[in-house]
Amino acid sequence: MYNTRMLSYAEARACVIEQTRNAARRGPTFTKNVNDALGDVLAREVRNDREYPPFDRSTRDGYAVRSAEAVAGAHLKCVGEIKAGDTVTQPLPANACIQIMTGAALPAGADAVVMIEFTQRAGDTVTFQRATNAGQNFVPKGSEARAGDLALKRGLRLGYAELALAAQVGAFELACFKRPRVAILSTGDEVVPITEAPGAFHIRNSNSVSLTAQVRLAGGEPAPLGNALDRVDDLSAKIELGLKEDILVLSGGVSMGKYDLVETVLKSLGAEFYFDAVAIRPGKPAVFGRCRDTFVFGLPGNPVSTMVTFQLFVIPAMDILGGAPPRQLPLLEANLVKTLHEKPGLTHFLPGHFEWTGISPEVKPLSWQGSGDIAALTQANCFIVVPADRQDIPAGEKVSVLPRLDVI
Ligand code: AMP
Ligand code: MG
Repeated sequence: MYNTRMLSYAEARACVIEQTRNAARRGPTFTKNVNDALGDVLAREVRNDREYPPFDRSTRDGYAVRSAEAVAGAHLKCVGEIKAGDTVTQPLPANACIQIMTGAALPAGADAVVMIEFTQRAGDTVTFQRATNAGQNFVPKGSEARAGDLALKRGLRLGYAELALAAQVGAFELACFKRPRVAILSTGDEVVPITEAPGAFHIRNSNSVSLTAQVRLAGGEPAPLGNALDRVDDLSAKIELGLKEDILVLSGGVSMGKYDLVETVLKSLGAEFYFDAVAIRPGKPAVFGRCRDTFVFGLPGNPVSTMVTFQLFVIPAMDILGGAPPRQLPLLEANLVKTLHEKPGLTHFLPGHFEWTGISPEVKPLSWQGSGDIAALTQANCFIVVPADRQDIPAGEKVSVLPRLDVI
């Protein structure tokens, strides 16, 4: 341990980023069809195949003109029509205009498009109501990008805009990094598979389900390992399986209880730890370390603690090991609609409901029974972040809000 003081959540994230960056291995790359690459990370840059736009492209329906001729009150003869997709070979004759549609190419000689709304037409004669400025209402050839310029750089995560740009430049097959593989192992003698009837004092393994979903949402490949009993032999054997992956996420077994054995077992397998507590609630006992070539997170087992700590700490590690820069925490600001009282000393993440009502965003704290209350989370679309140095936050004050990964 190089940290004896408990880290804030921001420091703990910085620690995850530093450690994973030092070790980032990117492994093999894969070719993905552009339609299947949402959430993948580009392993090879994409360059523009030609200039964009590839021709002077009209942005309005109207008339292609020479601006010096289309002055206020001018009459020009309309000598033709150009629609989007038409091949344009004829230049614009002197003292004439050509009707043009949005997306069509300007003829040589034209230096502006006048919107149809500012013209009048009688037969072939078009009258212009206002002065025309050179350059108006078209995007010049090559003004968005030059042929050969970088379109998408290596390490970029592919969202819908990035995929559209790849499609635009003809890159329908993309070289992508292997998605980080994340082993998921829950722990606890009380935890039973979801397909089994639980005994009176058992609980179903919901953490493996939420973690699998969170790994997928974050762009990783989940490797579910089921549940380990709170016993050294079972934990060791199942952790060994998890050490084949890029990241191992454990839930439960990291608190101070007599049967919280995760850290002890990891240590016996050679793990080093970078932190084993964070000044947050829920989620304080969260552990982060490395065992052989695998980064290991021990997340507290209470379901909401597991969800929050995954979002805070596991995602940046997945980003970096997947070849991308770490995503920022997407914090928003909203007016608190109900006064909060929390114990100081820890940053609290409280289930909240964020909404725009009229002119500014508001967030309402939801009542809950603490970090085991999954049902409360299903009503929440965010966590309200209560800073460690604040005990009371009055209604009306602005607070930070962390959107849930999947609902805002
Ligand atoms: P622990 O972190 O092991 O002390 O567990 C804290 C609480 O989380 C206990 O009430 C557990 O029953 C619950 N819990 C632990 N693992 C799971 C799991 N896989 N699914 C649902 N709840 C769990
Ligand atoms: Mg336990």
